[in-house]
Amino acid sequence: MSRQTLNLTDELYEYLLAVSLREPDILRQLREETACDPMARFQISPEQGQFMALLVQLMGATKALEIGVFTGYSSLSVALALPDDGRLIACDISKEWTDVAHRYWHQAGVTERIELKLGPAIDSMDELLAHAHAESFDFVFIDADKQSYDGYYERALKLLRPGGLIALDNVLRGGRVVNPDIDDADTLAILVLNEKLKHDDRISLSMVPIADGLTLALKRP
Ligand code: SAM
Ligand code: CA
Repeated sequence: MSRQTLNLTDELYEYLLAVSLREPDILRQLREETACDPMARFQISPEQGQFMALLVQLMGATKALEIGVFTGYSSLSVALALPDDGRLIACDISKEWTDVAHRYWHQAGVTERIELKLGPAIDSMDELLAHAHAESFDFVFIDADKQSYDGYYERALKLLRPGGLIALDNVLRGGRVVNPDIDDADTLAILVLNEKLKHDDRISLSMVPIADGLTLALKRP
């Protein structure tokens, strides 16, 4: 028994995947194609995709927002978990990467559910707020440039309905959050945000040590 989160060895991690991962073929194909991209480490892990899909189903979410699409693994995981009339607004600045995502959304038959907004995500979120989308989203996944996370978080809180959920990725920064010598701006931004969320009474909070750390922030009524 353990009173701490278990430190996963490679062997335990393989076991976890072997007995629980139910990755659809289309997601596996996307993961294999993305593995050839020099930025493949951007992609969330398959068990994190499955976890986020479960959260979306658990909430009965119909309207979701993603900040940071890359080649589409997380967006496709979420879109596949939405009902047929569900909607995912997906924000990114890269046409090249989101062209790959689009190809897989099409193959998976979920293009109708996904609207891509190309451009800085802060602008896309402000545009949503200006066009009556406030308090309407069930689920927001934040996984883009780390120094804008606080800006994304504040806008996400406005866009979410009460009881809606924000998931923020990479909150453990590969362990760099506990390195006293750290001075990279991305990790410093995450350190400040992690402290802020600890004391933010607008949300209920859990930091889940899956993959690189996923903070769940539920908007309180
Ligand atoms: N969620 C993706 C997945 O699971 O495959 C990974 C996202 S990747 C870590 C970060 C993405 O954020 C990149 O695709 C990058 O183009 C995008 N990005 C960076 N700065 C951005 C900005 N200012 N606005 C919108 N997207 C941005
Ligand atoms: Ca990430």
